[in-house]
Amino acid sequence: MKAEILAVGTEILLGDIVNTNAQYIAKRLADLGIAVYHQSVVGDNPERLLEAYRLAFSRADLVITTGGLGPTKDDLTKEVAFEYFGKKSVVHEASMKIIEGYFKEMNKPMAKSNVKQAYFPVDAVILPNNNGTAPGCIIEENGKIVALLPGPPREMKPMFEEAVVPYLEKFQQGVLVSKVLRVIGVGESSAEEMIEDILDNQTNPTVAPYAKDGEMLFRITAKANTKEQGIKLIEPMEAAIRSRLGNNIYGEGDITLENVLGQMLINKKLTIATAESCTGGMVAAKLINYPGISSVFMDGVVTYSNEAKINRLGVSIETLDKHGAVSSEVAAEMAQGIARTAGTNIGISTTGIAGPDGGSIEKPVGLVYVGLSINGQVKTKMLKLSGDRQKIRERATMQLLDWLRRELL
Ligand code: ATP
Repeated sequence: MKAEILAVGTEILLGDIVNTNAQYIAKRLADLGIAVYHQSVVGDNPERLLEAYRLAFSRADLVITTGGLGPTKDDLTKEVAFEYFGKKSVVHEASMKIIEGYFKEMNKPMAKSNVKQAYFPVDAVILPNNNGTAPGCIIEENGKIVALLPGPPREMKPMFEEAVVPYLEKFQQGVLVSKVLRVIGVGESSAEEMIEDILDNQTNPTVAPYAKDGEMLFRITAKANTKEQGIKLIEPMEAAIRSRLGNNIYGEGDITLENVLGQMLINKKLTIATAESCTGGMVAAKLINYPGISSVFMDGVVTYSNEAKINRLGVSIETLDKHGAVSSEVAAEMAQGIARTAGTNIGISTTGIAGPDGGSIEKPVGLVYVGLSINGQVKTKMLKLSGDRQKIRERATMQLLDWLRRELL
């Protein structure tokens, strides 16, 4: 199979941004043994885009595009691809619901133009986008395949790894076996640095690190004749990565942080209760995602006001007056208070400024204190988080749960 990479966007053409998507995809296709003879860049112009498709398909079976899936009139990659294949598009209801949900969650009104992002031909394979609004898609017609991916690398990489790679498997000789290691608490560049030499020297298996939903995923992929051979090939690479990343790896495959933590609490027979301010119940909701949690999760309260912190958790008025509600001292008293009143081994707490208002020079938006009381021993941690209100609350939640996981190891 011959592939061609087509980056769409005037920004790339003008040199405003570097075409790192092409580099990533080219490398991954090489890993998979798929030949790439041409790469090209085209601006946001429908005639030249159509010409680019014609040329690419005159010499390749697979064309992977990135960019131009956005809601604006400039974003034409999809529409011109449908035209090239002579396909009509209709609204894809499931995608429409996801896009609407995305705006609801972000608390932003959805523009009419976003509806266009949910239009696809009925026979297209839809590639969900967990990191943005634009779904991608794959169209296969008479031996020609186009995979349309979004421009932002943080959206493109997970989609490529989770949807395109498995799709291409049917064109491989032998089998592709993959294993995903899930990493938390390490940023993208430091995670990559930790395995730099492995990344530089990989052949088979290969490893692709990419960020998704506040964590890093390391996908190890082996090409082999049988599944068993593939699993064997993955083992030494996995061991090498584990030795570098240690406790930063919290799980593998589809497991979630809350499942790992839930299992730990149950195995250690440790009961838990939550007292939340800025996260407003997110920590409790995460823990309760784990189906077996009822044997250890006892109580969870959202003590948003000072009165609630005082009356429900026994936080002292003096502490609140002296240090303010967003402080290490209050986080500590909240964690202790909930463990005491709920009668649990563990109490965990959050108090912070999620914004957009309410920040000051001393206590800026994104400042969050989390507290941990384990069998009477209390600790707190200061977090400085970035993002909008939702992201700050999500990040605080994940960091607190990860901190507890590390403490219980
Ligand atoms: P969205 O759905 O977010 O509008 P899109 O699919 O329409 O995305 P573009 O609008 O073309 O994508 O690009 C969005 C951003 O993605 C660019 O501003 C740039 O930061 C990044 N990007 C796009 N193409 C590339 C590329 N080839 N390499 C690296 N980054 C890219």
